Amino acid sequence: MLNTDYDVAIVGAGVVGASLACLLAPIPLRIALIESKAPRSYQPDRYDLRVISVNHASRHVLHSIGVWSAIEALRVSPFRHMRVWDESGEIEFHSAELGEPELGNIVEMSAMLEALHARIADEPHIDLFCPARIDRIDYRTDSVTVALEDTGLLHAQLIVGADGARSRVRQTAGIAVSATSYAQRAIVAQIETALVHEHTARQRFLRTGPVALLPLADGSSSIVWSCDRLRARELLAASDEDFAEQLAAAVQHRVGNITMRSGRRGIPLWRSHADRYIAARTALIGDAAHVVHPLAGLGMNLGIIDAAALAEVLSGSVAGRRHDAGAYPALRCYERWRRTQNTIVISIMDAFKHSFGSGNATLTRMRNLGLRIADGATPVKHSLMRHAMGLAGDLPRSAR
Ligand SMILES: Cc1cc2nc3c(=O)[nH]c(=O)nc-3n(C[C@H](O)[C@H](O)[C@H](O)COP(=O)(O)OP(=O)(O)OC[C@H]3O[C@@H](n4cnc5c(N)ncnc54)[C@H](O)[C@@H]3O)c2cc1C
Repeated sequence: MLNTDYDVAIVGAGVVGASLACLLAPIPLRIALIESKAPRSYQPDRYDLRVISVNHASRHVLHSIGVWSAIEALRVSPFRHMRVWDESGEIEFHSAELGEPELGNIVEMSAMLEALHARIADEPHIDLFCPARIDRIDYRTDSVTVALEDTGLLHAQLIVGADGARSRVRQTAGIAVSATSYAQRAIVAQIETALVHEHTARQRFLRTGPVALLPLADGSSSIVWSCDRLRARELLAASDEDFAEQLAAAVQHRVGNITMRSGRRGIPLWRSHADRYIAARTALIGDAAHVVHPLAGLGMNLGIIDAAALAEVLSGSVAGRRHDAGAYPALRCYERWRRTQNTIVISIMDAFKHSFGSGNATLTRMRNLGLRIADGATPVKHSLMRHAMGLAGDLPRSAR
């Protein structure tokens, strides 16, 4: 049975945990990466229904760890324009306004995982345990021990919870979380549209939730239709033709007739934010720390920046072996940095969600006034764009 020492044990090899492993390996730190499920495999002949809008900051991080070109070689879909509207207001964004070739890239989750896991397989400082089940996590003053079923014991100076919304690491460390259900589901699918998408991401806010069309490289589009549970149940039960017609109507026929290219999948949506991002010898990153509504396409982008920020503070802390990887001052620095930034983003997104698609007349008037100011006042709009695109803010070095 295994009985091995590591600097860092990362639980969860989703995009965020796998990115952190790649960021830490060159420091160099000895990394154990523990994942319960084999990663979903990339399919060249069909699109993964789980696509992510990757912003510039995340792209820079993925580039810095040497995986962006591998992801591009699989499949990425850049988008240059974005239109957001509801029944009474509209705002448009164009990458050319900022002199950028694109606003962001739509990337399949499976393509990111494939590229990251290929990189990890080549990295001598990372041991991947997958599929692996955690039996126990035990804390000591100077280390954490993770007992893996049928494998043995891993000892580390720091454990990182990158294990998603229902984080076991967060629970074991006793970190509280405020969570609320949006009482919504996001329906994801791939569609064909009669009109060309012109590399434009479109999002309409309905009273029952936002519906987004994301342009894909082959001319088709991916959709994320968030709606109340009851409406979601109806939409998931509808025939392909009926669903496609309802979708075309929901986006006011701006893309012409719609036909389905895939089945549909419903994903429950909720919002959560951990009260702390750290505890003794523990740090949380990604969805283990915060879950946000997909409307702004930011959840994973925030998680990748968490990983880059944690790697940066650890790199400074362990340089010259001044501190071990679980030393508290570095963890505190990570928490102050990222919890503050994420709290701001989450508040802005909540305000956005509540004001768009709201039936409240006063809120709608205020929102439309805000939109007119933002759309007309170029510096305000550009500042909004730069933040959403990951071109501004207090970013780690690897994200710039
Ligand atoms: C419909 C939808 C659309 C979205 N669109 C976007 C978008 O456009 N842009 C964006 O930035 N974000 C988007 N998001 C958010 C994004 O999907 C998440 O923020 C992101 O996947 C979180 O990544 P993660 O690695 O932190 O967690 P996860 O992806 O949940 O990965 C956690 C990993 O940990 C593993 N794990 C869990 N428990 C254990 C355990 N006990 N032991 C070992 N391993 C474990 C899991 O198997 C998994 O591999 C969207 C979300 C939804 C629902």
